[in-house]
Amino acid sequence: MTVISEQEAKQTGNPPSQVREISIAHSPDSDDAFMFYGLAKELIPANGYRFEHILQDIQTLNERARRGNEQLLQMERDKVKKWESRLNELKTPREYAALARELDIAKKTNQTADEEIKRLAIEHGEVKKQVEAGEAALAEKETVVAREGTEIKGVLDGLRARMVELEAERERLVALCDRSLVGKYERIRKQRGGLAVVPVVAGTCKGCQRNIPPQMANNLLTGTEIMSCPNCHRFIYAADEPGTAASA
Ligand SMILES: [Zn+2]
Repeated sequence: MTVISEQEAKQTGNPPSQVREISIAHSPDSDDAFMFYGLAKELIPANGYRFEHILQDIQTLNERARRGNEQLLQMERDKVKKWESRLNELKTPREYAALARELDIAKKTNQTADEEIKRLAIEHGEVKKQVEAGEAALAEKETVVAREGTEIKGVLDGLRARMVELEAERERLVALCDRSLVGKYERIRKQRGGLAVVPVVAGTCKGCQRNIPPQMANNLLTGTEIMSCPNCHRFIYAADEPGTAASA
């Protein structure tokens, strides 16, 4: 946060009192927003102060504060020059003392502004370094993302090509099948979540996880007939070696 300016503003309404206006600048990130929420929404008593909120990034704010300080420094330097030239025109020791005091104050203000400029320059350098480090890290990440994107696209293109092949193969095979069987297959696939042909393992249909009658399991192992699960009606095939299903 940076206090940009502090000035007194006359309040126009009643009662005629003075309101001190303070400009507060902070970056628009979440922690600053949290800190300044109460002030910005006037949820806390301001006790004669009015706050102006300026939202800018930290670099801009530092730059703004630095420019303000440089202007202040230049103004004070001009004052010192003017007063020093007037020292020669003074007539009484009292006038001289008064001006010497002014000079002293101006010199101290200059020193403070000078120190503040140096401090801000250091801070500016640090922020710049952080920004540069952040940009370097971002560039590195972007390179990784671009490379991985190319890789993923390659895999995806391969899969798409394979899918076209498989679809052509499927069409060829469907043409060789019994039409009513294909119709039944499509119906079951639609009704049963895309799964129309399932294995029977140890007497259990792997589509509905229920046992099929033992005789049916035996027929499935030895016969050549196309069979369906009596429970879920999916086409079933034996996944066991002959002779193991009957014991289940
Ligand atoms: Zn089943």
